[in-house]
Amino acid sequence: MSQIHCLSLTQVRDLLRTRELSARECTAACLDRIARTDPTLDALLHVAGDEILREAGLLDTAGPDPSRPLWGVPITVKDVLATKGMPTTCGSRILENFVPVYDAHCVAKLREAGAIILGKANMDEFAMGSSTENSAFKTTKNPWNTSHVPGGSSGGSAASVAAGQCFASIGTDTGGSIRQPASFCGIVGLKPTYGRVSRRGLVAYGSSLDQAGPMTRTVRDAAEVLQVIAGHDPKDSTSVNVPVPDYVGVLGQRESLAGLRLGLPEEYWGKGLTPEVEQACRTAVDLAAGLGAEIVPVSLPHTEYAIATYYILAMAEASSNLARFDGVRYGRRSPHVQDLASMYTKSRSEGFGEEVMRRIMLGTYVLSAGYYDAYYKKAAQVRRLIRQDYLRALEKCDLICGPASPTTAFAIGQNTADPLQMYLTDIFTISLNLSGLPGLSLPVGLGRDSNLPVGLQLFGGSMDEVRMLQVAATLEAALPQLPAPPLP
Ligand code: GLN
Repeated sequence: MSQIHCLSLTQVRDLLRTRELSARECTAACLDRIARTDPTLDALLHVAGDEILREAGLLDTAGPDPSRPLWGVPITVKDVLATKGMPTTCGSRILENFVPVYDAHCVAKLREAGAIILGKANMDEFAMGSSTENSAFKTTKNPWNTSHVPGGSSGGSAASVAAGQCFASIGTDTGGSIRQPASFCGIVGLKPTYGRVSRRGLVAYGSSLDQAGPMTRTVRDAAEVLQVIAGHDPKDSTSVNVPVPDYVGVLGQRESLAGLRLGLPEEYWGKGLTPEVEQACRTAVDLAAGLGAEIVPVSLPHTEYAIATYYILAMAEASSNLARFDGVRYGRRSPHVQDLASMYTKSRSEGFGEEVMRRIMLGTYVLSAGYYDAYYKKAAQVRRLIRQDYLRALEKCDLICGPASPTTAFAIGQNTADPLQMYLTDIFTISLNLSGLPGLSLPVGLGRDSNLPVGLQLFGGSMDEVRMLQVAATLEAALPQLPAPPLP
């Protein structure tokens, strides 16, 4: 069983169920894979110790439980989600020593389903970034080429799944942080509809945008994980109380795409797109057409305002959410303190990294008296127009599709000197968060120039994850399978 890391979550789960593989063996194989690959990749900030093998052993003693769909399956979790008894740093010095006393709602659901939480994945500090280079601790490398970034902010999650350290990871997506790293690392990433997965225990960055979701090697695996983590949570006021459909059961029912109207927004298929991304994505769209989908041109006319709108709103929300980190209630307090005021300023300026401080300052500025109307209020109005664009386009088609990112994974250090350039890389992902709708990134091949993965995004209507997953599974089955990343 030395090749366990090449199996999908579904395959490994089936072996666990029939006891062809024990939970302990499976967990040990993942720990071994981590020991072999993480010194190169730096995907994880914390790896559980021997207690995890004992936990797996207890599962084995009790025997497989078919009512627990992830029984014995090792999973990693982005370090922005609270994990009881396991550090939760958000990639920040300010939370370096923080160990939560409770599990995030989605983590609790994973544990109830029998999953084993192997460790915590590296991320941009407080999920602010697109490359994982903003982590206070280390930069994760892309398993396909270690001089390139894995994307961000859930870059640790994406790299750990692509490298076979685990069978799934939970990422979070405020402006693309599940879908963009999934596309850079050649895996599937799904951002559910806002409110589909509870945000309780997800350390808030932009509360009106944040959403946790699965990052996996196959579409079916994403459905399996979503099935577990989706659902109403009365303790999160933004959690939506609608029944959870059978995401897994509907897969494989759709061999052709006849009757599907696939919308191609003109704003996503033109300037700024590198030729290799365009080519790989167009090939996948041609494949969809060959399977019977009707290709419909659509328009999302406010796309050009999406970056400005997002960065105003996300920074405003961040400046308010991050006010709680003050050296009193959570995390680190500066040792160089003379009085109350210096305790606040020193704890915060020593604890937060440069990008986080930039965003807190800009967010405070756009919310300040005199500027609120010009920036925050205006951005909130444009947000509505962006959502309307999607709703109008979805009257003409069933799903919208476009590239997940204009480029494949860029080189480490390439965009760090210019924050604006880094923000521009989010052009194809952020408007979806502003609209609250679900999106999925599917690997469609390797770029002909960079030899790095390319992701195609599918956007659906509110709560239409079912259709998105079905169509993604049909396309996945028809596309050539990606090779494994070139790791030892
Ligand atoms: N890159 C975007 C940002 O820096 C999105 C991050 C995210 O989705 N968490 O805000």
